[in-house]
Amino acid sequence: MRGLMMDNPLLISSIVEHADINFPDREIVSVMSDDLIHRYTYRDCFKRVRKLANALTSIGLSEGDRIATIAWNDYRHLEAYYAIGGAGYVCHTINPRLFPEQIVFMINHAEDKWLMIDPLFIPLIEKLSSQIPNVEGYIVMGDEESIKNTSLDNVISYEKLIGNESDQFSWPHLDEKSAMGLCYTSGTTGDPKGVLYNHRAMVLHAFALIAPDAMNLSNRDCVLPVVPLFHVNSWGSPYGAMMVGAKIVYPGPKMADGETLYNLMEDEGVSVSLGVPTVWLVLLQYAAEHNKKLESLQRTVIGGAAVPESMIREFHEKHDVFVQQAWGMTEMSPLGTVMSLKHGMQDLTHDAIVELQTKQGRGMFGVEMRIVNDDQEILPWDGKAFGALQVRGPWVCSDYYKLEGNAGSHTDDGWFNTGDVAKIDPDGFMQITDRTKDVIKSGGEWISSIEIENTAMGHPAIAEAAVIGVYSEKWTERPLLIVVKNKDQKLSKEEIMTFMDGKIAKWWIPDDVVFIDEIPHTATGKIKKTALREQFSDYKSAE
Ligand code: ADP
Repeated sequence: MRGLMMDNPLLISSIVEHADINFPDREIVSVMSDDLIHRYTYRDCFKRVRKLANALTSIGLSEGDRIATIAWNDYRHLEAYYAIGGAGYVCHTINPRLFPEQIVFMINHAEDKWLMIDPLFIPLIEKLSSQIPNVEGYIVMGDEESIKNTSLDNVISYEKLIGNESDQFSWPHLDEKSAMGLCYTSGTTGDPKGVLYNHRAMVLHAFALIAPDAMNLSNRDCVLPVVPLFHVNSWGSPYGAMMVGAKIVYPGPKMADGETLYNLMEDEGVSVSLGVPTVWLVLLQYAAEHNKKLESLQRTVIGGAAVPESMIREFHEKHDVFVQQAWGMTEMSPLGTVMSLKHGMQDLTHDAIVELQTKQGRGMFGVEMRIVNDDQEILPWDGKAFGALQVRGPWVCSDYYKLEGNAGSHTDDGWFNTGDVAKIDPDGFMQITDRTKDVIKSGGEWISSIEIENTAMGHPAIAEAAVIGVYSEKWTERPLLIVVKNKDQKLSKEEIMTFMDGKIAKWWIPDDVVFIDEIPHTATGKIKKTALREQFSDYKSAE
C-alpha cells in the first residue's frame, strides 16, 4: 500500500523559495577582487538569481546542459549556483588552481556550453580558449568594465546579461533525480573523474549537514565558508546556510589571507567557518603574530585533510574555538562524517576530547560505512582493526560521468570504495589511517603514514610533515619522514626520533628524517605524495 503523502520533488529551487519568504533581510557579504566589500540581502540575491535564470533560459540552453564556473567565493558565484541548477542546467565548478591541461580536459569532457568566469581568470581562459571548441560563449562575472580588454569571442558581462531580465522566474518542476552539479576529482593519478550531483542528493545532504550533531547550522549563525565554491559544493554550505537563513560571508579571492579572514570574522560576527587545514594555519599564524584573539568564532569545521592535534589545541586554548573535524570526498557531495560529542562525553577530560577531535568524526544518518580487509571480510568497530573504507547512501555517487560501469569504483553489492583506509571505534568515530595507495606495507603489516605525520606535527619546531614509503630490501617498505621546520628553528633528526618515541609503535618510527624547504601540495591543499615519491625515488634506506 502506498502512503498518502504529497510527491513534491526535493529541488534546490525550493530552498530559494523558502529562504526568500522567510529570511529576506538576512545578509550576504563578499570581499571583491578590488578589495571592496559587497553587501546585500537574501531578497536582493534571489532577485538576481531569477534574473540570471531568465537570462540563461533565453540564450538557448536545453535541460541538462553544462555551464562551468571558474570563480572565487562571492555573491555572483552563489547566484550562479542557484540559477544554473534551479533552472535545469548543470553547474560545473572548476578549480582555477588546477593545471591548465586539466582545466581543458574537464571543460571538453563535460562539454560545457558556456563558461562563467571571474574577471581575474580572463587571462587564463584567453590562453585556453582555442582548445575548448564546444564552448559557445563566456560570461564574465563583473560589469561592462570587466570585459573591456579581453580578446575572448562572444563574451558578455554578467551585469549586462541579467540587466534587463525580469526578477520573476517560474522554476521548472524537475525530476529530483535530474543532474544539477558537476565536480571533477582532483585527479592526482590519471584523468580527473566527473561526479554528477542531483537535486535530491543536494537537498538531503543539506538537511543532514545543518543537524545539531553535524554542522549545527541555524538562523542565528553567521557562516564564513573559506572552502571554495569550486571545492565539492563548498561542502554543501550554500544549500545548508540558505535553508536555515544564516548570514553568509565570503572572502572572495582573499581566502589565504590571514588578515582578511580575521577581520571578516570580527567585523561580521562570524560564528562558524569551514575550510581545509592549510587555510587555518594562515589564520592562526596571523592571530599569533599580531597577538589577537578570535572573539566571535565559536566553531570551525575542518576537513579535506587530517587536522593536526596542535591546530585543534591552538584553536581551543588560545581562541576558545571548537574544532569539528569532518571527512568526505567529491564522490560523497562531500560529507560522510563530522565530529560531535555523544551523550556523556561533555564530561571527558580536555585531552580525551582532543583525542576524539583528531579522529575524522562519526557517521551521519544517510551515509552507511563499513571497513573490510583484503578478502572483503567486514571488520569490527573496535578502534583497532583497520581496513578499506566503503560507503553507501543517497548522496554518494553511483558512478562517474561518462565512465558508467568502467571505473571499478564500486563493489558488487553496491558500496563505493573510498580509497581510504580507516578504523572505527565502538562509539562510531572513524579515523582515517591512510589512503589505500599511501599506506606503508612493512614486513607484511600496514603502517599508517597519517598517524606518523600527526605525531611529528605535534613537535613545536615542525611546520609540516609528510611520510612516504621507501623501498627496503628487508621489509619491502619503510616509512621516511619528510619535515619542513618552522622558520628559524633548530631541529635535529635525533630530537624528532626521541620526540616520537613512546607516542607510536616502535616499529612505526621512521628510520630516517629528511628536511626540505617546502612540501608540495595539490590544488586542494593536500600533501602531494606522488610528487614526494618521485622526488625521493632514488632514496636509499639506511639499513
Ligand atoms: P579534494 O582532493 O578535491 O579535496 P577528494 O574527493 O579527492 O577531494 O578528497 C577526498 C579525500 O580527502 C578523502 O578520501 C580522504 O583521503 C581525504 N580527506 C578528506 N577529509 C579528510 C580528513 N578530515 N582527514 C583525513 N583525510 C581526509
